[in-house]
Amino acid sequence: MNLQKLIFTQNDCYKAGEKITVKGIMVHSTGANNPKLSRYVGPDDGKLGENKYGNHWNTPKPGGKEVCTHAFIGKLKDGSIATYQVLPWDHKGWHAKGTANNTHIGFEICEDGLTDVTYFKKVYQEAVELCVHLCKEYGLTEKDIICHSEGYKQGIASNHGDVMHWFPKHGKSMDTFRADVKTLLNKKETAASTPSASVAIDGINVGRGANQLILYVGKASTGTNKWGAEAIINADLTVASVGKYGVGNTTIPAGKMALSGHDKAAYWILDHLKVGQKININIKV
Ligand SMILES: [Zn+2]
Repeated sequence: MNLQKLIFTQNDCYKAGEKITVKGIMVHSTGANNPKLSRYVGPDDGKLGENKYGNHWNTPKPGGKEVCTHAFIGKLKDGSIATYQVLPWDHKGWHAKGTANNTHIGFEICEDGLTDVTYFKKVYQEAVELCVHLCKEYGLTEKDIICHSEGYKQGIASNHGDVMHWFPKHGKSMDTFRADVKTLLNKKETAASTPSASVAIDGINVGRGANQLILYVGKASTGTNKWGAEAIINADLTVASVGKYGVGNTTIPAGKMALSGHDKAAYWILDHLKVGQKININIKV
């Protein structure tokens, strides 16, 4: 997921300043053939690209309407996919035209012509990852996710067909969507993180494979080759030392641990770990 933030401070919905207790997520799609984020999100931050018509939604009443969702998923100027958060997640959005506004985070997936399978796969995956992120933040599960058309059936949103006029064209539905969110939510991931970055740990006390990050605990040395970089971590999880790229088989002082990265993972260590910094290591088995 490429999550960016550009809060719609000019939109009347933002100015209304009402807060909600988040109980669910509503998936929308825009209903117009324009996959570019710049159509809806502005002004241009350099990544979005220019909106020549100035008709993005960071304006009091987009298209004369009282509307605002919490996020948009679509294409950046360079063609890659991103998510733009445009309201604080616990802000009351104006996306459902119903009581779901009082409980649900709403986000829009920018539609294209609905036939491009490559674009669909990318935005679907981005939406899954956004939902996993929000479920973790608000203690929700996949069961708390509905689309606009399901919200209509439940009587909490207006009569719109999104996203079930689109997903089935590519063999997907809200049921597959929820199942994909569930799978990703339940994925056990052992990870190391600093306040600004996190990375998956690929194994503990095992040989280090290509691009892998391995944690060594209770060993005298890492036993690795020179194609990586290694950091020694104190028992209190502060970084004791960070080695240079190209040095392997680092000695691990008693009571300490080592994080060892090959190639790509080595650069994570070198870019993100600083001596004295506290890190987090989550171990899930
Ligand atoms: Zn909708």
